[in-house]
Amino acid sequence: MSSALKIYNTLTRSKEFFEPIDRSNVRLYVCGPTVYDYAHIGNARPIIVFDLLFRLLRHLYGENNVKYVRNITDVDDKINARAAERGITIRELTEKTNQIFQADVKALGCLDPTVQPRATEHIAQMIQLIERLMSAGHAYAADRHVLFSVPSMPQYGELSRRSLDEMLAGARVDVAPYKRGDMDFVLWKPSQSSEPGWDSPWGRGRPGWHIECSAMSWAHLGEIFDIHGGGIDLIFPHHENEIAQSCCAFDREIMAHYWMHNGFLQVEGEKMSKSLGNFVTIHELLASETFGGRAWSGAILRLAMLRTHYRQPIDWTVKALEDAAKVYNDWMRAIDRVTPSEPTEEFIVALNDDLNFAKAEAHLHILKKSNPAALAACLKFMGFASHEAASDNQSEEAQLAKIGLTKSDLEQLISQRIEARLTKNWTESDRIRDQLESLGVSLKDNKDGTTSWTVIS
Ligand SMILES: [Zn+2]
Repeated sequence: MSSALKIYNTLTRSKEFFEPIDRSNVRLYVCGPTVYDYAHIGNARPIIVFDLLFRLLRHLYGENNVKYVRNITDVDDKINARAAERGITIRELTEKTNQIFQADVKALGCLDPTVQPRATEHIAQMIQLIERLMSAGHAYAADRHVLFSVPSMPQYGELSRRSLDEMLAGARVDVAPYKRGDMDFVLWKPSQSSEPGWDSPWGRGRPGWHIECSAMSWAHLGEIFDIHGGGIDLIFPHHENEIAQSCCAFDREIMAHYWMHNGFLQVEGEKMSKSLGNFVTIHELLASETFGGRAWSGAILRLAMLRTHYRQPIDWTVKALEDAAKVYNDWMRAIDRVTPSEPTEEFIVALNDDLNFAKAEAHLHILKKSNPAALAACLKFMGFASHEAASDNQSEEAQLAKIGLTKSDLEQLISQRIEARLTKNWTESDRIRDQLESLGVSLKDNKDGTTSWTVIS
């Protein structure tokens, strides 16, 4: 048997043994993207880190005993602004952006979460939560807004461990006349007729961002669940506010037992920002030559991301990608035509230690010489799919190889086509479809925003 999983819990600032509430229903929630633009490489970090955790939990508790929920925020003021700027509807913008996001994270080797709830489909639950908070004296309506009353919750601030002064300093940036307390935050706000809105007891309006996650985690995981994850930048105020809302609405001490946060990402030693010109999207890394003069496969991006421990800050550099490519190609050579056996005990033990990838990688370098079949199994475990071509003739890669295509070529074409559709370039989108059809690949656009494919020849 594997040793038990230990994870670093931001709530207690310590590594703890993981004990699920129910071993047959292990529940994980991770804050997902706001779909208004291409996801940048910093957004990819929690997606990849928590995908690895999801895989590990499935291994430890059984594939059908883990429920992973990652939401899609499709109502947000950034979305409204971007749709107006581009002269398209909000729905068009969020649908297409979500399609690109789904294709990007698939290329990064991530499994689909069990559920990807959309905020706009959970407005009723948000209204219910807000009503509970109001009747329990934790929220109040003022000037067509509803606000959470921070002083009504004495434990507020426990996750981030910020001092009252620090929190107040942050809150004072946004003082509105209708707020009773400076730190009170918005649960519901009024919508102009040009803005998306839903009828509510407080008039036509839309939710604040924080309440979205409390409602979606409640709807899919219940009042209390096991693990809540996200980037370190979300600890305050987003996660602090999620805890305040959920604990006060359900009169509970706790929302999730374990809070996990991945560290910051910077690019070539600098904070990533559009003004510095070092803003890198997942899409560009996969499909263009803007970073380091070449496109990178999803597997190399994934490996480069995992090679820095998830809690440490990561410096995203061309050098790091080149190093990851070298390691990856070495491994691929070692497992060429090898059938995967089982991941080794040492490998699982390393990951069980708060996802200690460095320890796992050191072990993989040993396996490369001593046990390529186990190496292949460990790589498969972590979502590096390419080995399947070597081991399974019926695999997607093998089918594609027969018609002279690699999977990353195909994925690139699919994402180019999604991009063409986003800019309403139907000629280009049809051209790519026709090109693939002439090669023997048929595309199907699914309702959930993904594009799937089959080899027809
Ligand atoms: Zn959230």
